[in-house]
Amino acid sequence: MNTLLPTSTAGSLPKPSWLARPGTLWSPWKLEGDELVEGRQDALRVSLAEQERAGIDIVSDGEQTRQHFVTTFIEHLGGVDFERRETVRIRDRYDASVPTVVGAVERKNPVFVEDARFLRRQTTRPIKWALPGPMTMIDTLHDIHYRSREKLAWEFATILNQEARELEAAGVDIIQFDEPAFNVFFDEVNDWGIATLEKAIEGLRCETAVHICYGYGIKANTDWKRTLGSEWRQYERIFPRLRSSRVDLVSLECHNSRVPMELIELLRDKKVMVGAIDVASDTIESPEDVADTLRKALRFVDADKLYPCTNCGMAPLARGVACGKLEALSAGAELVRRELASQDEAGSVVPG
Ligand SMILES: [Zn+2]
Repeated sequence: MNTLLPTSTAGSLPKPSWLARPGTLWSPWKLEGDELVEGRQDALRVSLAEQERAGIDIVSDGEQTRQHFVTTFIEHLGGVDFERRETVRIRDRYDASVPTVVGAVERKNPVFVEDARFLRRQTTRPIKWALPGPMTMIDTLHDIHYRSREKLAWEFATILNQEARELEAAGVDIIQFDEPAFNVFFDEVNDWGIATLEKAIEGLRCETAVHICYGYGIKANTDWKRTLGSEWRQYERIFPRLRSSRVDLVSLECHNSRVPMELIELLRDKKVMVGAIDVASDTIESPEDVADTLRKALRFVDADKLYPCTNCGMAPLARGVACGKLEALSAGAELVRRELASQDEAGSVVPG
């Protein structure tokens, strides 16, 4: 990236009301067949235009191409029976009815590659594409075939690697893996979670990112956050291993969270996507709010490695709110860019 402090979003943006029900995760599509294909592409164009107009530097599809960040990917795989559902506890936090792994999992066809090609044709800006991470995938399934979380995670890592290589060939600049499960299962993360993530990015020449958040602004997550105490130190358990991994960027929740900013120090040398937009609130941050979070982060991450971002996806928000937040992110980053530039000038006249 040539731009200092390049902005991006963690992933999803709200869908237009003609495509899916507003304010709803897992909303069913309102169109079907060819109309759905075209409708998703139109929604992608709108979402991209909103990002570009707001001045977002690294753009995405706003996840207009998928119903949900984990299940849509899994729907395209063999070995998973969506009729056979079981209620399981997701991320140790809430119960959900999920499909069952009944045989060897396989990727029969590319999942998002056509969509990524479509996005690539619409913009000259760098593009980022999100995929679910292996650990978050296994946590969203009932498994009666492998009967081992680790074994299934390795299988998914292989499948994700196939998809990622084709996304790279389609012109994606940054491939991001969403791993909210990394904030919950610390021992597994260190034992094999990060290792499976490295398998998923094996052989890639494009940049890679991992997004680790405290979840969408839904009730189950905000209730959980209330139980976490005055300081959220979960990141501390996984950053040392993550720092030694091959992943280039780490996307984190920072603004309005109780994560002590100094934990970022544990990721020294990594590029850090600092969440400077709260996705659990309808209040639109001011550019100054954003700048304030970025300035705090700059104490622990070098300016050339700081990537201003949102805390998580904004799918459940109203479209106007999400647009306002994109603009604030962009304007806040610009404030800090100017400060850094004037510091540079001031610095250059100091002798020696
Ligand atoms: Zn997230």
